[in-house]
Amino acid sequence: MIIIKRKEDLKSWIKQQKTIGKKIGFVPTMGALHDGHLSLLRLSKRDNDISVVSIFVNPKQFNNQEDLAKYPRTIEEDMEKLINANNDVLFLPDEEDIFKNTVDFDLDLEGLDQIWEGSSRPGHFKGVVSIVKILFDYVCPDQVYFGQKDLQQCVVIKRLIKKTFPHIKFHMAPIQRELNGLAMSSRNVRLSEQERSDASIIHEALMYAREYAGGRSIQAIKEHACKIINEKNNFKVDYFEIVNTENLEPVSHWSEADSLAAITAVHVDKVRLLDNEILFP
Ligand code: AMP
Repeated sequence: MIIIKRKEDLKSWIKQQKTIGKKIGFVPTMGALHDGHLSLLRLSKRDNDISVVSIFVNPKQFNNQEDLAKYPRTIEEDMEKLINANNDVLFLPDEEDIFKNTVDFDLDLEGLDQIWEGSSRPGHFKGVVSIVKILFDYVCPDQVYFGQKDLQQCVVIKRLIKKTFPHIKFHMAPIQRELNGLAMSSRNVRLSEQERSDASIIHEALMYAREYAGGRSIQAIKEHACKIINEKNNFKVDYFEIVNTENLEPVSHWSEADSLAAITAVHVDKVRLLDNEILFP
C-alpha cells in the first residue's frame, strides 16, 4: 500500500495513473476503521483499477469540541486493516496541508443541511461538503463510495456531485451491522457492554417500521418505535421519522413518495447513534 501525505503529491501520482488509463475508486473516511468502511473498499476494489482510502478527522464537521477530542484515532490498526484488505493508496493528510490554498466552498443545500443531523449539528454538512470537495479535487476519482449508514450525508454528497462533479459516479453501500443488529460505527467503542447489547433495539424498531410500512399509520409506527427505544436505560430518541428517501422530507402518508426510509438518531448517554432503513421500494 502506498501512503501519500501531501495533496499535491497525491494529485500528481493520480494524474500519472490516469494517463495510463487507470480507473480510480475513492472511499473517504475519518479512520477508526471497521468492517463498514472495509465493505466500501471491497466495492471500490471490485469496480476500479486503483482504490484510494483517505483518513482525515475533519474538524470542520464537528460542532462539539468534546466530540472531536474524543473521536477515536487508531491509525496503526487502520493501516494494518487496509493492507490486509489490499488497499492500493492511503491518503493521510494533516490539517495544515489539506486546507492550504483552499477557500471555504459554499454549496446551496436548499435546507437539507438544516434538518435532522443538520439541526442538531449546525454547520456539520457545510463542513462535510468543504472537505469532500477538496478531497474530490485532489483524488480525482471516477467512482466514490459512501455508506447508507449516513443517509443524509449520501443525499448531500449526491447534490455536490450533481452540481460540481457530474462526471463522478456515486455508490451508496448497505449498512454493515454487528450480530445483534447494531449498525457498525466508530463511536460504538464509547458504549458500555450493556448499552451495546441494548442498542439492538434500534434495529428492531426499524425492522418494525419496515414490517408495518403501508399497513399501520405512520404516526402509530413512530410512537411505537420511540416507546420501545426510550424504554432502554440511558436511551433517548432524538428523532424517529419516516421520510422521502430522495430529499429526506418527512411524510405523513405512505403514498406521498416513491421511496421511503425510516431514519433515527438516538442518544445513549453522551453517544449519538444513527441508523436507518429503506422501507420501500
Ligand atoms: P466515517 O469514517 O464515519 O466518516 O465513515 C466513512 C464512510 O463509511 C461513510 O461513507 C460512512 O457512511 C461509511 N460507514 C460508516 N459506518 C458504516 C456501516 N456500518 N456500514 C457501511 N458503511 C459505513
